[in-house]
Amino acid sequence: MNDRATGRISTAKISNNSIPLTMVRTARETLKSKSNGVVSKATQTVSAAEIEVKKAAGRKRKTAPVDEDEEVTCNSCDEKENQSEDEDEDVKKPAAKKLRTKAAAKKADDSMPLAARTAVSSLKRAMYIGAHVSGAGGVQNSITNAVQIGANSFAVFLKSQRKWTSPPLAPDSKTQFHAFLKQHNYDAAKHILPHGSYLVNLAQSDPAKAKQAFDNFLDDLQRCEALGIKLYNFHPGSTGGDTMAAACARIASQLNKSHKATSSVITVIENMCGSGNVVGSRFEELRDIISGVEDKSRVGVCIDTCHAFAAGYDLRTPDAFAATMAEFDSVVGLKYLKAFHLNDSKAPFGSHRDLHANIGTGFLGLRAFHNIMNHEPFQNLPMVLETPIDEKGPNGKSVENKQIWADEIKLLESLIGMDADTPEFEKKEAELQAKGASERAKIQEQVDKKAEKDSKKGSRGAAKKTAKKKKVETDDEDDSD
Ligand SMILES: [Zn+2]
Ligand SMILES: [Zn+2]
Repeated sequence: MNDRATGRISTAKISNNSIPLTMVRTARETLKSKSNGVVSKATQTVSAAEIEVKKAAGRKRKTAPVDEDEEVTCNSCDEKENQSEDEDEDVKKPAAKKLRTKAAAKKADDSMPLAARTAVSSLKRAMYIGAHVSGAGGVQNSITNAVQIGANSFAVFLKSQRKWTSPPLAPDSKTQFHAFLKQHNYDAAKHILPHGSYLVNLAQSDPAKAKQAFDNFLDDLQRCEALGIKLYNFHPGSTGGDTMAAACARIASQLNKSHKATSSVITVIENMCGSGNVVGSRFEELRDIISGVEDKSRVGVCIDTCHAFAAGYDLRTPDAFAATMAEFDSVVGLKYLKAFHLNDSKAPFGSHRDLHANIGTGFLGLRAFHNIMNHEPFQNLPMVLETPIDEKGPNGKSVENKQIWADEIKLLESLIGMDADTPEFEKKEAELQAKGASERAKIQEQVDKKAEKDSKKGSRGAAKKTAKKKKVETDDEDDSD
């Protein structure tokens, strides 16, 4: 009883540093009412947990948060559905001795495997599948988090993605990161794909803001080099109302500067879903950025499947997938493809809405991922899930269920070499589609309503058109409903 209650509290701390005090208090009250002789001991433990929670809350106020949901869904471009916050404790260590046991418990729990890692050599194709894991508490923790879900590749934020300044990479974090890499046998140069800050817009034309963006970007590249990471994924940015050509040129020029200031890291541009002034939803825009980059060996592309689909690149059938990849090859060049973000889409084809769905449950469907998993040229690339893992917990609060990623990794691996024209595949496909049916219907309705509204607007006078254009131009953050 005692152990169970204590365990519950530490698990709560593990899963979410922003766990409300009310939950801790409830646990303490439960202990008080249900046990007798052991009350004081149990309460003591709870108090320690409470202190820790309070400390976390204090830190949270002082430092701009790392948004765990954002870590999961890559959703600067994603819509404003996920706004819960967590914190970045990049360089922080437990201050008090009494917290050490808690930290040890946290570590033990984080490394409790939810799935064993698949030996890539046992797969018919060398597909390295993982997820965007948390690096809260130090970048070294991303490795433990990746191991826990059986990931063979992973993404992570190297610092808070929502604030302009962060403490430098702690020497201890770096040392541990390298030790963990060795211990768990990850190739940092190949299968780790950090994600850049959502604040950074390399297309920024204002000199002061452009410098701020560049400094943040460069700082991340330097962290990559300190950690032995070779691929760095970022969102290209926003035109800010300027022409797309000018924006692409500015991004290229910032990349050139960043390449000169570093030695080896490859800057990997993520394709976007395309709305407002966002750069990078068309393959042509990726091409135009790359064409301005002097050292072509230092630039690449990461295809986010949800973004591509929402931008109007189909991947669902083998033919559509082949056509999209042929277009990518002819416009951008397959040699620039360095990574994947594997996400299904809650929004329909070409809707320009960025809503990540769990694999097989969205409008892309399982077949799209079967196409990807069986495409020879995609071997050895990091393939990172940014699918939602938040579930409603006991108090109606959102709780992360990392088992979802562990299962999705295994699901994707199971598609390698699988015949998609079998009852086994069709059963799984139908099962997952059924799971996402209501969510798809909901978003479809929104998209239809918006289209109807837009077509009505389109038939009205030019004055309204100008007003709408103005609104779009101020929308720096891709699409928000
Ligand atoms: Zn992204
Ligand atoms: Zn993405």
